[in-house]
Amino acid sequence: MIVQPKIRGFICTTAHPVGCAKHVEEQIEYVHKSGAFNGPKNVLVIGSSTGYGLASRIAAAFGGGANTIGVCFEKSASDNRTGTAGWYNTAAFEKAAAVSGYFAKTVNGDAFSDEIKAQVIDLIKAHMGKIDLVVYSLASPRRTHPKTGETNSSVIKPIGEEFTSKTVDVHSGKVTQITVPPANDEEIRQTVAVMGGEDWQMWIEALDTAGVLADHATTIAYSYIGPELTYPIYREGTIGRAKSDLEDTALRLNKKLQARGGRAFISVNKALVTQSSSAIPVVPLYISILYRVMKEKGLHEGCIEQMYRLFSEQLYSVNGPSIDEKGRIRIDDLEMRPDVQDEALSLWEKVDTENLAKLTDIEGYRTEFLRLFGFAFKGVDYDQDVDTQVGWV
Ligand code: NAD
Repeated sequence: MIVQPKIRGFICTTAHPVGCAKHVEEQIEYVHKSGAFNGPKNVLVIGSSTGYGLASRIAAAFGGGANTIGVCFEKSASDNRTGTAGWYNTAAFEKAAAVSGYFAKTVNGDAFSDEIKAQVIDLIKAHMGKIDLVVYSLASPRRTHPKTGETNSSVIKPIGEEFTSKTVDVHSGKVTQITVPPANDEEIRQTVAVMGGEDWQMWIEALDTAGVLADHATTIAYSYIGPELTYPIYREGTIGRAKSDLEDTALRLNKKLQARGGRAFISVNKALVTQSSSAIPVVPLYISILYRVMKEKGLHEGCIEQMYRLFSEQLYSVNGPSIDEKGRIRIDDLEMRPDVQDEALSLWEKVDTENLAKLTDIEGYRTEFLRLFGFAFKGVDYDQDVDTQVGWV
């Protein structure tokens, strides 16, 4: 099949297997170049196939020499559709791990369900014994509760009052005003049910009850804060409510795990182009400004740079992580630097459709977006027929 990008709104419905493999290879190369660290040996990554979870898995395996189990929700190719990017990323990861002699198995299915938790526990028992690190990196629009059977959906809305802001249609380059109505109580509740901490806690409890969590185990989940201009739609909106719940869960889990030498953390990560962040209004315009400012200052990082730094300089550094007043690791430190934020804000105030290309890195955003699906990689011939039926090891 000849595979070209087919963009529909904020998703691309095709993915290129060779380009996705190249994306994984590049991240592995970055970790090899940056050097090994003394990391955990048996790692479970929940949400392992794209974005921050994939980068965590790559950093743990190729930087720390870890055996990994991944959990994700991806689709293989059918006769007329390509597989998803996360499917091809996982195939490439598993292949590279096998070549380097690291155990790597991936469970594809609904991480919120009891069945998938049970499957993962069986795999750990069969191949690892106990887990030293659990990374929780799910981003999902809905969750079916394993006990009640209720399906909840997350929404990205402000709370209390409507929010009007600039936003960009990334593909047409049109900067317009968007008004998002406030969420009602039910929408807030459902968003917290999907993206809050309950499922993370259920994972840790299930692993612990099954006796597969090492005494000194660490667990980490990812959060975001960002600039004040996105507060109404992010940090103070429905998703922010879910993140606060996730952060409270970290404090509770930390107390529980600390009693036996373990720890639970939140890492506040940088805003990056991923499949999930592209779906949030306002944020892509901020990201394209942020990329410009951070690239100009030589501070730009992608998922792998962030996760390598999180593992080697924070979680598994000799002195252990430095945390903020709420116990969170702040790997968003460079994004939040006052000089970066001042410049971003000043560009934000000036940006419109006419000056978008000049004032922002919208081109960089578009390229990053294409790369998420295996496109825009030099050295990949996108006019060539490619085998889309790629399997996992
Ligand atoms: P992503 O969309 O790239 O990855 C989501 C992962 O979750 C994928 O592996 C997907 O397969 C998996 N997944 C989704 N639903 C699932 C299900 N039901 N069962 C099993 N797996 C499922 O997202 P991302 O941007 O890397 O986000 C990961 C975490 O990082 C989220 O908590 C997000 O809020 C946080 N974060 C993201 C950013 C950003 O700018 N992208 C910044 C800070 C924090």
